Amino acid sequence: MTAAGAGTRSGGNGTQSGRYDIIIVGAGHNALVTAAYLARAGLRVVVLERREVIGGACVSEEIWPGYKVSTASYVNSLLRPEIIRELELAKHGFEMLPRNPSAFSPFPDGRYLMLGPDKDMTRREISKFSPRDAEALPKYEAMLERVADFIEPTLMMTPPDPWSLTPRNLTTMAKLGWGFLKLGRKDGAAAVEILTGAARPILERWFESEQLKVLLATDAVIGAMAAPSMPGTAYVLFHHVMGETNGVRGVWGYVRGGMGGISNAIAGSARAAGAEIRTQAEVARILVRNGAVEGVALADGTEVRAPRVASGADAHVTFGRLVERRELPDDFAAAIDALDYRSASLKINVALRELPDFTACPGTAPGPQHRGTIHICPTLDYIEEAYDDAKYGRPARNPMLECTIPSVLDDTVAPKGQHLMSMFIQYFPYALSTGQPMEEAKEAFADRCFDILTQYAPNFRRAVIGRQVLAPVDIERRYGLTGGNIMQGAMSLSSLFFMRPIAGYANYRSPIRGLYMCGAATHPGGGVMGASGHNAAREILRDGKGK
Ligand SMILES: Cc1cc2nc3c(=O)[nH]c(=O)nc-3n(C[C@H](O)[C@H](O)[C@H](O)COP(=O)(O)OP(=O)(O)OC[C@H]3O[C@@H](n4cnc5c(N)ncnc54)[C@H](O)[C@@H]3O)c2cc1C
Repeated sequence: MTAAGAGTRSGGNGTQSGRYDIIIVGAGHNALVTAAYLARAGLRVVVLERREVIGGACVSEEIWPGYKVSTASYVNSLLRPEIIRELELAKHGFEMLPRNPSAFSPFPDGRYLMLGPDKDMTRREISKFSPRDAEALPKYEAMLERVADFIEPTLMMTPPDPWSLTPRNLTTMAKLGWGFLKLGRKDGAAAVEILTGAARPILERWFESEQLKVLLATDAVIGAMAAPSMPGTAYVLFHHVMGETNGVRGVWGYVRGGMGGISNAIAGSARAAGAEIRTQAEVARILVRNGAVEGVALADGTEVRAPRVASGADAHVTFGRLVERRELPDDFAAAIDALDYRSASLKINVALRELPDFTACPGTAPGPQHRGTIHICPTLDYIEEAYDDAKYGRPARNPMLECTIPSVLDDTVAPKGQHLMSMFIQYFPYALSTGQPMEEAKEAFADRCFDILTQYAPNFRRAVIGRQVLAPVDIERRYGLTGGNIMQGAMSLSSLFFMRPIAGYANYRSPIRGLYMCGAATHPGGGVMGASGHNAAREILRDGKGK
C-alpha cells in the first residue's frame, strides 16, 4: 500500500529532550490543527503518528494503483471556516468541490427524490410526493438555522463548568443563557428538543411524505448506534446540518484529492510554521512523574521529552492504554471506563469500471443522480428494523446504504474512465452474537449490500473491480478508534458540551498536569470539524507558553 501524504518516519532509540515544548499524540486532523496553531504561536511542536500516513479518519490512501481513496470519512461540510481561513488551507492545497444536487434517493416503486442545494429543483422534487412538504421544508430549514445561530458559536468555545463559580465560567454561562433567552419560547423549545429528543417525531410533525422523512432521517443515525425513534438522534441530525461548503450552510461537498486533502493542507500549514510531523511513531506510554507529564515513550523504545503532551487519540486510548492507571484519580478512571463506544457503522470502498445505471434515473454517463449522496433506504421503519437486528448483535438483514461517487466531480481520485464509490452502511455491530467468524460475516454482509444496490442499479455488481470492507473492528484497528466509534465516543447528550469527554474535564485538560486532549473525544465532538483541535490549542496557550 502506498500512503498518500505520509510524513517523516520516526527512527532510532534513545532519548530526545529539550527540543520540544509540546508533543502531540496522533496526526488526526484535530491534532494537526492543534499543532498548527501552537507552532504559529511560537511553540516547538512535534506530532507523533503511529500509522505510515497522517490524517487519522480524515485520510486519502492509495489502496489500489491510481485510486485516492477516502478510506474513512468521505464528505466534508463541518470543517470550521475560521480554521480554513486562519491556517490558510487553500494556500496549502485544500479545495472543496460542491455537489449539486446533494442527495438522490431511488425508491422500490421506481420513483426517486433529489434534494438541494438548488431551492427550485428541491421544491419541484418534493412536490412529486407532497406539495405540502415542499412548502414545509424551507420553514423547517429556517427553524434549524435559528437554532444553529444559537448552537454554532458554542462549537469554538471551551465549555463552561456549571459546577464552578469562577468569573470566567459565570460569564460564559450568562452569555449562553442570554443566547437561549434570545431564541424565544418557540425556538427555545425546539432547541431543547433537538438537543435531547429523537429525530423521528420531529420529522413526523413537520412532514407527511415518507420519502422526504426517511431521506432527512438518515443523517440522524450516521455513526450512531441508534434508530431515529431514539432520544439523542435529533442532535446527531442537527450536528450534520451545522456545516457549510464555500459559505453555503448545510451543504456537503467533496475535497479534491479525497479527505486527506484536508489533513495534508493542515499539516502543510503546521510545517510551514515549524511543526515537525513524524509517522510510524507509535506512542506506547505517556510518561508521568509527580502528577505531571514528562514526555512519551515510543513503541520502538525512543523517549521524547517535553513539558506538555496533547493527545488526539480517544479518551479510552489516552487514559486507558497510554497512561498508567495509578496516575489517575479513581473517579476519573471510572468515568473514562464508562464511556460509550458502541458502533455499528461499516464502510465499503469500491473501485468501479462504470457508474451505476439506476432504473429510476437511467444512464452510465455522469448525471445528477451520481453527484450527491445516494441513499438506499425506503422507509423509517426500514431503519428501525435494521437497528433492531444490530441491537441483538446481528448484521442488519436490510441495511441502510449511503453511497457517494467523488470521481464524478474529482478526476484526481480514480484512473481515467473508472470510478470510486464510498458505501457507508448502518448497521453491522462491533461484536456479533451469531457466532459467525468476523471476516466471513463482514464479506457476506458486503455481498448483501451489493445485492441491495443491484436491485436499484442492475449493472452495479458487474461494474465492481475491487472492494475494501471495513467493519467496526477494522475501523478500530486501522484508525485507533475504540469500538469502531467514528466520533471518538457517542454523541449523546450525556457526552456533549460540558460532559465531553467527562464532566469536570471538558476544558481540554486532564488530572495530570501538562496533559491535554485535542481530538474528537472533546467538545464539540466527531466529524471533520477541527474545532476540538482549535479549542485545545487556545487552552494550552492560555496556560502560558512555557510549563
Ligand atoms: C468510516 C468513517 C466515516 C466517516 N465519515 C465522515 C464524513 O464523511 N464526514 C465527517 O465530517 N466525518 C466523518 N467521520 C468522522 C470523522 O472522520 C472523525 O470524527 C474525525 O476524523 C476524528 O478526527 P480526530 O483528529 O479527532 O481523530 P482521529 O481521526 O481518530 O485521529 C487520531 C489519530 O491518533 C493516532 N493514534 C492513536 N493512538 C496513537 C498512538 N498510541 N501513537 C500515535 N498515534 C496514535 C491514530 O492513528 C489517528 O491517526 C467518519 C469516520 C469514520 C471512521
